[in-house]
Amino acid sequence: MKKETDYLIVGSGFFGSVLAERISRVLNKRVTILEKRNHIGGNCYSHRDEETGIEYHKYGTHIFHTNSKEVLQYLSQFTELNGYYHQVLTTHKNRVYQMPINLETINAFFGVNLRPFEVKDFLSQKIPKGLDNPKNLEEKAISQIGPELYNAFIKGYTAKQWQKDPKDLPASIINRLPIRSSYNESYFNNGRYQGIPLEGFTAIFEKMLDHELIEVHLEKDYFQERDNYEVLEKTIYTGPIDRYFEYCFGKLDWRSVRFEHEVKDVEDYQGTSVMNYADLEAPYTRIHEPKHLHPERKSTQKTLIIKEYSHDDEQAPYYPINDEKNKELYRQYAQKAKQEKDVLFGGRLGTYSYYDMDQVIAQALTQFQKLS
Ligand SMILES: Cc1cc2nc3c(=O)[nH]c(=O)nc-3n(C[C@H](O)[C@H](O)[C@H](O)COP(=O)(O)OP(=O)(O)OC[C@H]3O[C@@H](n4cnc5c(N)ncnc54)[C@H](O)[C@@H]3O)c2cc1C
Repeated sequence: MKKETDYLIVGSGFFGSVLAERISRVLNKRVTILEKRNHIGGNCYSHRDEETGIEYHKYGTHIFHTNSKEVLQYLSQFTELNGYYHQVLTTHKNRVYQMPINLETINAFFGVNLRPFEVKDFLSQKIPKGLDNPKNLEEKAISQIGPELYNAFIKGYTAKQWQKDPKDLPASIINRLPIRSSYNESYFNNGRYQGIPLEGFTAIFEKMLDHELIEVHLEKDYFQERDNYEVLEKTIYTGPIDRYFEYCFGKLDWRSVRFEHEVKDVEDYQGTSVMNYADLEAPYTRIHEPKHLHPERKSTQKTLIIKEYSHDDEQAPYYPINDEKNKELYRQYAQKAKQEKDVLFGGRLGTYSYYDMDQVIAQALTQFQKLS
């Protein structure tokens, strides 16, 4: 006997959970969520380290940030933000600089004391001639910021991220490199409202999905379970779009990361939540120290640090690859998806896009308007 449900939602990340919450509370319809992992929350899942009790984000540091009042208002039903303000630093040749590159980075790196209005001329003198049509990522970066800043802050980091020489990477995978001619050290451009949920991310999902019309089934893969359900309205699919169509046009590529945890017997290891490592000598791209995400919490004697490495893992899709081959492949899948009238494809895996949390929440709310 098939189980009846109004909506079958594949995945309990923000896209699936926002829609589950809206559909159950506003439309009064039954929702079944199938989640193949053993927890809710998708890549935003947070939990406590056993040894230190420090809460961390299993799939990499997540900071909520948005300029959208609507998204903030929606999220505020489930959490308050703690006022954490995100800043990133980078270590190059044993010295620490601000990122993205700003006036402080430029002055410290070149040993000068420029004022904002002098930065443009200063940098343009450093850019070699003849790079109007950059053929690869390296040329594109040098054409924007010159070789010195590129070699210090972009080259090694990019090579580690992509596990390739930037000369062998297409120019198209980077846009304009952010360079600030002021001392603005905020990491986000859209950071009018930012912070970490006071009780962590997982608590948001627990509240969203706490409704009598929502059933959540963990460790259930849609492709093994779908024949057990009769879906009366729609399936909402937030898994990888190529998997849905059995890779009929080929596999979409993703960049993946892995994490190594260490407990350090000091109260504060690096003084900030995320430290990038620009040089190739450090094999990791960044070190996260999650206790800094919650300055409002009582500090612990020890600290947890998490080293992040890039690596290839088809099973752990993190970042879509924005090159022509993958964009074209995705276009074909997106075209096919349009023909599946009873299925809504959404979220980062379902649309092969890097979206921040606020964008995913906004998209889910927009899709909800179309359903209702
Ligand atoms: C390293 C990293 C850091 C990030 N940091 C930030 C940040 O600081 N700020 C920010 O705003 N955004 C950040 N993001 C983006 C954020 O993670 C995404 O916006 C968000 O997770 C997208 O939610 P989603 O629902 O689309 O996808 P996901 O969270 O990936 O949820 C999809 C869910 O579907 C499940 N699923 C897939 N296939 C199946 C199947 N066949 N059956 C059942 N379940 C299935 C998966 O297990 C997963 O739980 C970061 C992303 C990465 C990779």
